[in-house]
Amino acid sequence: MLEDKDRIFTNVYGYQPWNLDAAKKRGDWDNTKDILAKGQDAIIEEVKASGLRGRGGAGFPTGLKWSFMPKESKDGRPSFLVINADESEPGSCKDREIMRHDPHKLIEGALVAGFAMRARAAYIYIRGEYIREAEVLFAAVQEAYDAGLIGKNASGSGYDFDVFVHRGAGAYICGEETAMIESLEGKKGQPRLKPPFPAGAGLYGCPTTVNNVESIAVTPTIMRRGGAWFSSFGRENNKGTKLFQISGHVNKPCVVEEAMGIPFGELIEKHCGGIRGGKDNLLAVIPGGSSVPLVPAEQIWDAPMDFDGLKAVGSGLGTAAVIVMDKSTDIVKAISRISYFYKHESCGQCTPCREGTGWMWRVMERLRTGDANVEEIDMLFQVTKQVEGHTICALGDAAAWPIQGLIKHFRPELERRIKEAGNMAEAAE
Ligand code: NAD
Ligand code: SF4
Repeated sequence: MLEDKDRIFTNVYGYQPWNLDAAKKRGDWDNTKDILAKGQDAIIEEVKASGLRGRGGAGFPTGLKWSFMPKESKDGRPSFLVINADESEPGSCKDREIMRHDPHKLIEGALVAGFAMRARAAYIYIRGEYIREAEVLFAAVQEAYDAGLIGKNASGSGYDFDVFVHRGAGAYICGEETAMIESLEGKKGQPRLKPPFPAGAGLYGCPTTVNNVESIAVTPTIMRRGGAWFSSFGRENNKGTKLFQISGHVNKPCVVEEAMGIPFGELIEKHCGGIRGGKDNLLAVIPGGSSVPLVPAEQIWDAPMDFDGLKAVGSGLGTAAVIVMDKSTDIVKAISRISYFYKHESCGQCTPCREGTGWMWRVMERLRTGDANVEEIDMLFQVTKQVEGHTICALGDAAAWPIQGLIKHFRPELERRIKEAGNMAEAAE
């Protein structure tokens, strides 16, 4: 278990104030000028050495992503950092804790990361529903400007760097990085085809890197304690500490920072007071937010909670939003509800997603009530395969995978419902 001295987010529960004075007492903004004095390349190398992988769900190596940004401006075009604070993945609530209790970690991280990638400014795109968090963020940014930490000659470094907070309007799809860029530009939030990746053509056509809140907020600590310190936690390819968000049928749901790779059972026993009704009452877990397949109880308990550990059990770490479901859960209803979410949030731009999400949800609803034929289970699986990998953005995959997980692990339950509903119909005749 991670010791308190190794935690980056020391105010995750908001026991102390979020403001600048309190943040400074926690070590934030401590000689930021010295970090910047190391130079852009040195910062990127340190982040690469830390092994940090994107904390928004995809796990792309952060230092490598920064290194894609141009070292020289072409045609006088500026570069930008966009911070993805549109945390909307069902089950995810970690970035929210950072923004409302530790906003200065994010703002200082924006300066360090923005400087490293030679960005002129950072845009923090915060989901519209995070009203209180946006209020804190606006106030914290103002505090940082007033103290000379950002803006002209940021932190006395000689580097000019602005931070803007932009509120979203309630669309899940704007969390997709290119839809977020479109939305920032004032257009309808619809994903762009990639490539080009944002580093080549991003915000206003300029080189842009989009990073998750947590990825940016850990950067100053990595620079202060060193990449080797961060990479001393976790396993090869799965380094560092991570905020886990555990919801559902545990005795004490929480957000907690732990070492990557902590086994699921240990995470739940140590931080959540165990499964409601005991370990034997566990049915299944969605370990990484609603976009990843569920894992049945018998496979999850000892699984390391990291990218490779969860891949090995057919799922993924995603945002580390751990949704625990005990045996009282109607698992078909739960996945059908997730299907409805994706149908509702599809931007409608590509046919397999626009049509497929609706189609999948309607079949899921019939499977929930048993009003289906057994053959339709395979047909539904085939439809998920037609959607997966055939869309512009990852929403199509995210809609397909939970259903695939359900069919793979709970097929007997689907068949049981169909037979039971058929028997009832026969009995009524
Ligand atoms: P992705 O794998 O397409 O990209 C990840 C990042 O790496 C992007 O920034 C992308 O630009 C960059 N990248 C990938 N390949 C690259 C290349 N060849 N050259 C340059 N840059 C490259 O994934 P994605 O669509 O950005 O994200 C999907 C993930 O988002 C899912 O795993 C899901 O868990 C997560 N998600 C999170 C939330 C949330 O609320 N945090 C919401 C929805 C989805
Ligand atoms: Fe829009 Fe869905 Fe296509 Fe993504 S996959 S671009 S959400 S229609």
